[in-house]
Amino acid sequence: MKLFFVRSFIDNYIWILEHHKVCVIVDPGQSEKVLNFLEKKGFFPTAILITHHHYDHTGGILNIKRKYPRVDVFAPKEVLSKEVTFFITEKINRVEFSFFSFKVFHAPGHTKGHLLYYQKPYLFCGDTFFSGGCGKIFEGTSYQMYQSILLIESLPSDTLICCAHEYTVKNLSFASTLLPKDKYINQYLDISRKKTSILLPTVPSTLSIEKKINIFLRCDDEIVKNSPKIYDIKDKKYETKKEKYKIFSRIRKMRDFF
Ligand SMILES: [Zn+2]
Repeated sequence: MKLFFVRSFIDNYIWILEHHKVCVIVDPGQSEKVLNFLEKKGFFPTAILITHHHYDHTGGILNIKRKYPRVDVFAPKEVLSKEVTFFITEKINRVEFSFFSFKVFHAPGHTKGHLLYYQKPYLFCGDTFFSGGCGKIFEGTSYQMYQSILLIESLPSDTLICCAHEYTVKNLSFASTLLPKDKYINQYLDISRKKTSILLPTVPSTLSIEKKINIFLRCDDEIVKNSPKIYDIKDKKYETKKEKYKIFSRIRKMRDFF
């Protein structure tokens, strides 16, 4: 199995997973570059996987279906498109077709119906999780997003984080304002800056890298908890679990204004 991507809009990634020339397309916000890529490579799409309803993840479905009418489209119910062939309800936790078998996780937070698709080691996490950061909470609650991030954290450490945007430099720049002396964050910020300056992708990263550099996975890290910029003295009485969530929620709010 081989992983490819097509860039779209300013910083979106459309992921393409291929095996024996048959492929799956994840979150095609645009169609033109995807169709050109498929033609050039001689790939035949069997399915489109949609993580959530935002236009930069769904805008290309119609034209891809026009060219390949038999392609199946899997999406959460929140996607209001006639082209969707399978709506993934709460009860569904796996989708299978051709060579592929994806575990589906329901991960509200960014949107209410956001889905994650996982086929070892690939995690297509849309706008829920990014390298060095996590998604903006538009529709769900902060607690839902926290639970979604814990779910991702529980996956094997070799999981490839195939997120939908190139946000790494911005995420790490934010993290470094909170933890200016953190060697993992600073080193990775340097590497990521170099890569993006020559238009190389910083993703997919792995979950083991994220556990070191992603501040949202380090909310129970003593250094994070005790950072004067994050730590709220009033939260001292909270037991560990709640405290971790409080810190997550606080960092997420701070990120909104960065
Ligand atoms: Zn989105």
